Amino acid sequence: MQIRNGSLLSSLRAVGRKSVHGAHKAFHSGKKVADALTRLPLVELINKQLNSDSSAPSATIKTVKDERQKSTDLSTHSADVTFEGSLTAEEEQLAKELAFKRAPINWVPAAFLVATPIAAALITPWYLATHKVSAPVWLTFAAVGVWTGLSITAGYHRLMSHRAYKAHPVVRNFFLVGATLAVQGSAFDWCSGHRTHHRHVDDRMDDPYSAKRGFWFSHIGWMLRNYPSGNFDYKNIPDLTKDKVLQIQHKYYGAWVVVANVGLIGAIGWLIGDVWGTLLLAGLVRLVINHHFTFFINSLCHMVGTRPYTDTNTARDNFLLAIPTWGEGYHNYHHFFQYDYRNGVKWWQYDPTKWLIAALAKVGLASDLRTVDDTTIKHAEVNMMFKRAQNKIAKISNDEGLITDSNLSRSLQNFRDRVHFEYQLFNDTVKEWQALKAKTIQLKKEQFAERLHEADEALKDQYQMIEKRILEHNHNLKQAFKEISFKTAG
Ligand SMILES: [Zn+2]
Ligand SMILES: [Zn+2]
Repeated sequence: MQIRNGSLLSSLRAVGRKSVHGAHKAFHSGKKVADALTRLPLVELINKQLNSDSSAPSATIKTVKDERQKSTDLSTHSADVTFEGSLTAEEEQLAKELAFKRAPINWVPAAFLVATPIAAALITPWYLATHKVSAPVWLTFAAVGVWTGLSITAGYHRLMSHRAYKAHPVVRNFFLVGATLAVQGSAFDWCSGHRTHHRHVDDRMDDPYSAKRGFWFSHIGWMLRNYPSGNFDYKNIPDLTKDKVLQIQHKYYGAWVVVANVGLIGAIGWLIGDVWGTLLLAGLVRLVINHHFTFFINSLCHMVGTRPYTDTNTARDNFLLAIPTWGEGYHNYHHFFQYDYRNGVKWWQYDPTKWLIAALAKVGLASDLRTVDDTTIKHAEVNMMFKRAQNKIAKISNDEGLITDSNLSRSLQNFRDRVHFEYQLFNDTVKEWQALKAKTIQLKKEQFAERLHEADEALKDQYQMIEKRILEHNHNLKQAFKEISFKTAG
């Protein structure tokens, strides 16, 4: 619907443009955004409505639309401005940013997330100084810690969010109890939020724990307030919402959390003769540690580390973070190949979750482990290396690709020539590889089921040849990097 409108609307549009311009400036000044936004004229308009009705973020946008609609209704003159009857993208963006600023506190999670670390920090030193903690209590602390940690990584994350493998119901439910002990939300909430994170990674508006909003927000801040990006509608988890067991976990989540963390841990404490010590260490302290190591994946693992597979998002590979997170630290790989049951994909990378899943498969408790083939992984790595090499060359070259600084060493010029030469060959290899993949699909379509095996055999050699060539490009590029003492990942 198009509405011709008069001067009132024109001025409103001007106000909107001013607001958007101001907001752009504000975005760049980080922390000052909230204050700057408050001063904007369009925001005043929104604020006026918000003060009379502190409603949800979607209502904020609706309010602005209503306000504009009212203006068009009042307008009787046609004018030179054409109005679509809805907010421009920038205005919606601005209204959303304001909704972030005004997000109400999420009282229950906020109180829990603030109180638990404070309680653990205050009570634990006193308790350890005044009580003797028996070996079984320490053992329970360690065992529940492993159970909780792996239930999040192998359960909520790789099994339920990414469907990277299939698990026997016994394993699935064992992980579900462990994940309930972790108090990180129901499976519906966790997995829906996580799939949204992958889909909109780094988006300030739609990634629920966007690292672009800084360390605090991506670590814990996103849970403390009811941000627009934190409202999940579960449309992205149809496979989980039809699961009866998960429905029960979600419906009575609060009760299950108490049963697991107080009932179950307390019962174990009673069995080993120290209820309070077990509740404190295997309950509270274990909970806080597990919380913050998991949160580090959303915060630090999007800030510190290398990007060997892609630089299209902020996710990093970080070996140090893989240690306390059961292998989840290889987050750059994970964001690029999210359906792989491995995060640390190299055989030598520390990924106990991957080892657990592989072991479960060996004894028949897990199946259909999904992996990305080696050639695809190597291709991503080599591609990234070329990208880094080209960035380096771009820094020392002019528009025609010529090295302008005569002081630059001969070895750098050689490096550039070698990278260019290798890149041509690499592109040829990739083209051949793509053609081979297309041929494979075609062959599989044409062949009868019993002859598929023959077709596979015929193509196997060609695939091996491509893999060998990609490995050669990898070797040559690494060699060129070595000669100029340039790191292969960054
Ligand atoms: Zn991530
Ligand atoms: Zn993931």
